[in-house]
Amino acid sequence: MERIADNFFVEVGFHGSNNSVLRVGGRLVLFDAPQLPRDAQRWRREVEALGRVDYLVNTDHHPDHTVGNRWLPGTVVAHARTRQRLARPEVGVDYLRELFGVIGPDSVPDLDDYAPRLPEVTFEDELTLWIEDAEVRLMHAPGHTENTVMAYLPDSRILVAGDNVCEASLPAFQDANVVRLFDALDLAASLPFERLVPGHGAVVGPEGLDRFRTELRALVGAVGEAMDAGRSRAECAATLRYEDRIHRDLPAGADYPPALVEAFQRASIETIFDQIAADPAVRGR
Ligand SMILES: [Zn+2]
Repeated sequence: MERIADNFFVEVGFHGSNNSVLRVGGRLVLFDAPQLPRDAQRWRREVEALGRVDYLVNTDHHPDHTVGNRWLPGTVVAHARTRQRLARPEVGVDYLRELFGVIGPDSVPDLDDYAPRLPEVTFEDELTLWIEDAEVRLMHAPGHTENTVMAYLPDSRILVAGDNVCEASLPAFQDANVVRLFDALDLAASLPFERLVPGHGAVVGPEGLDRFRTELRALVGAVGEAMDAGRSRAECAATLRYEDRIHRDLPAGADYPPALVEAFQRASIETIFDQIAADPAVRGR
């Protein structure tokens, strides 16, 4: 766990999303939950040494941000659609068992009685949490998913971006809306943040946001050029690839199963292809 401000701590080393903590007095707000149950149990011990968990914010519904809810205290807060999607999960326990068997086998037995812990407080557009006089501004910022939330802390000028901004590499796009993602990046850029906690990878400053936008433009550009050259959706999905350091070449441990990494890439390229076809102006963002 790294302390990036007087009252703010970040853990980037778990095999899943980044996890962070705001501490005000003895009260805590957590942002995202570890993916592996063993990491979530360890995270609980670490954060409870800092104070009492009041809230746990999920930036989206993906397992790498929400499985650990089950092992953490506090009131879970998320976008309304995150609750709906967790209540009817697209991936079941069998998927998690297979994945954890590869990336964290000692967590597999903890899945025996697993069910997603759903958000208890949900919102549509924005919600502000007050911890004494510290403000946590939660903003619906669709992009990586339709229900992605970013958190801005004006007092410490920290932006928790979820997977709308990643430092490790571009994330998977199978649930993304690329037009809205550029809007979310514009929203992030409009905030006077000094440190940005990405969904995956190291904490960055404003330059990290610019770098992510450049990588995203390059990928959208590559798909667009392939379309200009007359390549079909299936050809693009079979041949175009981008660097993925969120699911492989990980410092934290074993890579995700190759077939899953490949499925993320194909689905991501198909999604971007479809969105360029629907709205070619996205190539100019
Ligand atoms: Zn993620």
